[in-house]
Amino acid sequence: MQDLESLLLQNRLLTEEVKRRIDQLAAINTVAATVSQSLDLDRTLKTALRAVLNVVGADAGGISLIDRKAGEVVLRAQQGWTHDFVSPPMRIPLGKGMSGRVIDSDEVVLDNNMNGTEELAVPRFMEENFRSIAMAPMHARGSIIGILSIMSQRPNAFDTEIVALLKAVADTVGVALDNARLYESSVEQEKRLTAVFESTADGMIATDQNGHISLINHAAAAIFNIEAHQLIGTPLREAPIHARVCESLLFALSSREEANKSFEVTLENGRTLSFFVSPIYMHSQVDQDQKTDGWVIIVQDISHLRKAEQQRAEFIQAAAHDMRNPLSVALSSLHMLDSFFKADTSALEIIDIAIRGVNRLQDLINDILNLEQIESGYGMTMDDLDVALLLKEACADVRPLYADKNLSCAVEIQGDLPRIEGDERWLRRALINYLDNAAKYTQPGDTITARAFFTAPFVHVEVVDNGDGIPAEAQSRLFQRFYRVSGTEKVRGTGLGLAIVKSVAEAHNGSVYVRSRPGQGSTFGLTLKVPEAVMSG
Ligand code: ADP
Repeated sequence: MQDLESLLLQNRLLTEEVKRRIDQLAAINTVAATVSQSLDLDRTLKTALRAVLNVVGADAGGISLIDRKAGEVVLRAQQGWTHDFVSPPMRIPLGKGMSGRVIDSDEVVLDNNMNGTEELAVPRFMEENFRSIAMAPMHARGSIIGILSIMSQRPNAFDTEIVALLKAVADTVGVALDNARLYESSVEQEKRLTAVFESTADGMIATDQNGHISLINHAAAAIFNIEAHQLIGTPLREAPIHARVCESLLFALSSREEANKSFEVTLENGRTLSFFVSPIYMHSQVDQDQKTDGWVIIVQDISHLRKAEQQRAEFIQAAAHDMRNPLSVALSSLHMLDSFFKADTSALEIIDIAIRGVNRLQDLINDILNLEQIESGYGMTMDDLDVALLLKEACADVRPLYADKNLSCAVEIQGDLPRIEGDERWLRRALINYLDNAAKYTQPGDTITARAFFTAPFVHVEVVDNGDGIPAEAQSRLFQRFYRVSGTEKVRGTGLGLAIVKSVAEAHNGSVYVRSRPGQGSTFGLTLKVPEAVMSG
């Protein structure tokens, strides 16, 4: 009989315990559901506090967050207090007062009989006349992020059950607050980046992998004279930007080698735009393979630089004309002297230095005059040309030079090439310039590839080397006159070779580009527009 009674009693106690646990879980659930509704930190603080006070049945409460940088615990939300301790917030140095005890012990601190003798970090808190207080540490991502407190003006207000409940909900609130804080800092970061993006003087466009525009800043919109919002989501090929720019960008985005690429486009109205295209790599959350996630395009209007360069070029060209005759007189005199001093080796050495110097000056003058000729269009003869043959001939022309350096030149023609219209002499010279440069900056024993392929309406000719490569910051300036990459001063050159190639390409309605990675090599390209008649026939 007694056994039955004790069994019944045990059963009742167990049922009550289960009920209490269920109530507790329901309370925790209620708090979790309430606090996870918003990512706004202030709102989450307020709703969390309200929900906690409801489920634990307390008169007042507060939430403080730890500011690690300032070394303080800062009260961010209060409810049921007489005085305002939130604006400005109550700040307690880490380690001080009751909050110091909570953080140091990482346990709930309970005082059910406050009588005014407590050692408080903020004495004004005494004016609230609270008699009971329970403070629980809030955790997120493995560390304490703040304190959740409940208070009452009655003594002995909080039993062990309430304390257990407070402890359980504190972490739920902690995680919600941490999420809101992370979200706010990422929003702030995004705003900062957007401000930089919008205020930079360079035009910037970002596209996704498929070439759809995802971002465009004011500067880029102004350069293309369009409204930025018109372009968001538009495929680049349909964007209302200049056709020549569009074609060059599409080619840059479609290139198989994912490296930085730079090129310039001169529009019919004389404006010159400089482009720098680089791939964006991002780790996808779903697919761990690293793939390009799109492209970023930097565009600058460099018309003013071009104009200054033009004026400088005109001056230099005039000077070059005037220097040509006196120089050849000096050179022939030196050769005559050379034959006079056949026996005197030191005199011959000096004459040899002088001859080399004059030869270099002649190289420079010839390059300057070549540039002038190609730019004026004077003496250009347009013929129907086979690009594959042109490439083979250019390779044959550089063979002796390549043999000296133990280099080989491989010609690679990809698919069928339509015939183009062009000046054979100038195009061959442009290709030789590319091939010469590749030899200058490649180690002996390597192979340099000259290849050609067709992507309507352009035939592309590229010279690919595995040489020194070119730093990204220098790439957009390579085709400027007299520009030489710093560190290459010892290699013989005038800094005009690539400017000549660019002028040749432009005289053929084409353009030039470069892709390069320091230490891995460079690809220099030339596009030649196929005439409408060939395209349609
Ligand atoms: P240069 O007469 O100095 O060769 P270019 O206009 O032909 O003048 O080239 C300009 C600069 O570009 C060179 O000084 C060199 O620094 C760099 N350059 C050109 N081609 C290559 C290449 N294939 N590899 C590395 N750097 C190159």
